[in-house]
Amino acid sequence: MSTELKPCPMCANHAAYVRHAAGIKGTMGYDSWHGISCKSCGVSIGTSDRRFREKEEVAAAWNVRAAAQIGLDREGEGKE
Ligand SMILES: [Zn+2]
Repeated sequence: MSTELKPCPMCANHAAYVRHAAGIKGTMGYDSWHGISCKSCGVSIGTSDRRFREKEEVAAAWNVRAAAQIGLDREGEGKE
């Protein structure tokens, strides 16, 4: 449960997990899921599409996006 989040791809500031929920807890309509949001600029994933049931899933998606946009992940890929 300790997947480290890469910095925000837009502003490089700290990003944090956000727990989303809809409906009334304990009823059939209740739903909850995970998202990640940048505290500084507000960039987020998983806010409304409810794709991410586990923190690890949303963390992986966030980190891929962060790495793709600002090229943080330079090591371990075999590229130069
Ligand atoms: Zn940001």
